[in-house]
Amino acid sequence: MLTDGEIQGVIDRVRGRVAAVEGRDRTGPALAAADELAASQAKLGDGIHPTIDAAVAAARRAFLAHGDKGLDSRRVIVNAIREAMHREGERLAYMAREETGIGRAEDKVVKNRLVTTRTPGPEDLEPQAVTGDEGMMVTEYAPYGVIGSITPTTNPTSTIINNSIAIVSAGNAATFNVHPSAKDVSVETIQVLNRTIVAAGGPPDLVTAIPMPTLDTARELMNHPDIAVLLVTGGPAVVREALRTPKKSITAGPGNPPAVVDQTADVEQAGRDIVRGGSFDNNLICTDEKTTIVVDTVADRLVNAMINAGAYRLKEHELKRLERVIFKELGPPDRPGAINPAWIGQDASNILAEIGVQADPAVRMIVAEVPRSHSLVWTEQMMPVMPVVRVNDLDAAISLAVASEHGFRHTASIHSTNVDAITRMARAMNCSIFVANGPNFAGLGENGEGFTSFSIASPTGEGLTRPRTFSRVRRVTVVGSLRIV
Ligand code: NAD
Repeated sequence: MLTDGEIQGVIDRVRGRVAAVEGRDRTGPALAAADELAASQAKLGDGIHPTIDAAVAAARRAFLAHGDKGLDSRRVIVNAIREAMHREGERLAYMAREETGIGRAEDKVVKNRLVTTRTPGPEDLEPQAVTGDEGMMVTEYAPYGVIGSITPTTNPTSTIINNSIAIVSAGNAATFNVHPSAKDVSVETIQVLNRTIVAAGGPPDLVTAIPMPTLDTARELMNHPDIAVLLVTGGPAVVREALRTPKKSITAGPGNPPAVVDQTADVEQAGRDIVRGGSFDNNLICTDEKTTIVVDTVADRLVNAMINAGAYRLKEHELKRLERVIFKELGPPDRPGAINPAWIGQDASNILAEIGVQADPAVRMIVAEVPRSHSLVWTEQMMPVMPVVRVNDLDAAISLAVASEHGFRHTASIHSTNVDAITRMARAMNCSIFVANGPNFAGLGENGEGFTSFSIASPTGEGLTRPRTFSRVRRVTVVGSLRIV
């Protein structure tokens, strides 16, 4: 989520650019803004256009050409995208870390590989046929047109790769308004995609964007008459904004995933899974474990298992210092606090150094035992800081998990060998993704079964988005014939 300060910064930069370009302001910041504008002009081409209007118009032309080329061409294009991203995914992951300053480059490589291999392609649109005494009915998946996609800073390249494969597979084109703090790597990703699509015989501009995205251009995209459907991936503000438009909006909003560990769990494995999952890309991913709730009788063993798996356990006075560093303000009991954005996605060892604890750089996660009312439990902090709450039994664990997830219905997990406990929690959470006995990234298909998505639409209910999500479902009925048996 952008903070008020960041939003003001974006507004100030745009005002500065306008003043500098119009020659009204010759001060240092205005000239820097003019330089930035000139640099952005140099990035035009290969899908990058100067304005949202131009980007949408180009995507609209590409959509029509894409339709003319037929289904086989889509298969060729998507295979070419996969090959290109196998080659380029690592470079783009390191670029994303460099530009955004958040997360772990090596984990971003994994994310890019995951979306490259596990995002479904045109095969997702297999038609369905029903035949009977009355004849035949076929269901087919038709494209919408140009999909307007808003992408986050937490997974900039993987969201663009994932959205592009799904949207193009379904026969659509896409115009992106990317996060301003990941604009360069996002532009680079979109240009690689365009060059790849054209080299594979597809039309130019099947995925487009602008070089200088802002909140205003995001709103322009959302309200553009030639955008058929919106796909929004981000925090609560952008989801609200999209749902205010009269368009069909597929919204992938925030989460605060709880991980419950009960007394029947393989506790050593649970400790390893929670550290691996909760520290993946320094906890930036919306699905990453953000709170651990453990039944008291196995709590000591679990925390020891987490330490053995690479976590550092905070002492009480260290927790007080940590609160002052990572929160601008702690929330009241059972409510989120205001996070200090400077620490989002930073390495555990750097956060520890800031509070005076010298730890091995290999430390992946900070563990803090806290009461259930603590802000760490209720805040989507996106840092490798794991609050652990002890409860008396499974009922208390599930009820805290439901409350602290805030009704986002995004992601939750349990470590248990009791199928009844797994079933009860899955029902109570009612989430898009529920994982039992693995790290949460298994629910994205990384070391788990199934396809992947980096836009998990919980507010609007589509769940893990896929080509079908970007398709109009159409039926043809033939009465009295075409049943051939
Ligand atoms: P963010 O909300 O700050 O930004 C996301 C995008 O929305 C950016 O492109 C930003 O420019 C735009 N935006 C933000 N506020 C806007 C407004 N008022 N009007 C128009 N556009 C606006 O989020 P972020 O920090 O980039 O990403 C982290 C958030 O996104 C977390 O809450 C995370 O849970 C969520 N997320 C969800 C999913 C999912 O699949 N459900 C995936 C990734 C991230």
